[in-house]
Amino acid sequence: MRKSTSAPTPASPAKKSATPAIKPPAIPPQESRTALVRRARRINRELAEVYSYAHPELDFENPFELLVATVLSAQTTDLRVNQTTPRLFAKYPTPEDLAAAVPEEVEELIRPTGFFRAKTKSIMGLAKVLRDDFGGEVPGRLDDLVKLPGVGRKTAFVVLGNAFGVPGITVDTHFGRLVRRWKWTEETDPEKVETAVASLFPKSEWTMLSHRVIFHGRRICHSRKPACGACPIAPLCPSYGEGETDPEKAKKLLKYEMGGFPGQRLKPPADYPGKPAPPLAEG
Ligand code: SF4
Repeated sequence: MRKSTSAPTPASPAKKSATPAIKPPAIPPQESRTALVRRARRINRELAEVYSYAHPELDFENPFELLVATVLSAQTTDLRVNQTTPRLFAKYPTPEDLAAAVPEEVEELIRPTGFFRAKTKSIMGLAKVLRDDFGGEVPGRLDDLVKLPGVGRKTAFVVLGNAFGVPGITVDTHFGRLVRRWKWTEETDPEKVETAVASLFPKSEWTMLSHRVIFHGRRICHSRKPACGACPIAPLCPSYGEGETDPEKAKKLLKYEMGGFPGQRLKPPADYPGKPAPPLAEG
């Protein structure tokens, strides 16, 4: 298996070529456990080079903001959440403020994220529990977090991993799709996917692995049209060919900073090589 090509980062765009640049992978159908672990870790290392700047794609300044933003991100994009939360957090900066809000006013503020009535119930409900049971602080334990209204394991791991430095695997739709394409697991239940993937990596890798896989799913390995011809881990992927293999056509499918477009965060980290997302258009 040859070494993979470097990623099409803004600094190093994919090479122009009229012919496919990537050889189909030679992964045996009965891959041993040891070979699978090696291949999975190699994919992680390649992704770490490509997305050296991988990070949570929700804007937040503290655990409370991350918790609320993650609840709001259900059924919508991180971009839309990031465009919505500045006004929400300006008006209600603490759990106490949000717990005492008028629900209709919260609904109006978070309307752009969809399902705004249910989400208002969840974020006001969790703000009340934080105020009444946790002294106005977000707890740093899985067992406490999953008892909060609207908070499941995925949300809890996002908060634990990114606000508390507790390693966790975040199985969202991108993560599940990609690890199945890579044949790391055939499971579809998020908890089973989490367990299967966790067993392939040391704990210390779990949080960043989650970011890298989700970055790859959003930028290159899309649900309907994966850009296989522009994919830096194609030589390690048993699903190479599921998407566009022509390098030039594949390059046009790249999203966010990979395609020269704005990212999802209005305030991305300093090392982000793309452009910040625009604020929500008025009207
Ligand atoms: S883009 Fe294609 S080659 Fe790359 S990980 Fe996805 S399916 Fe595999």
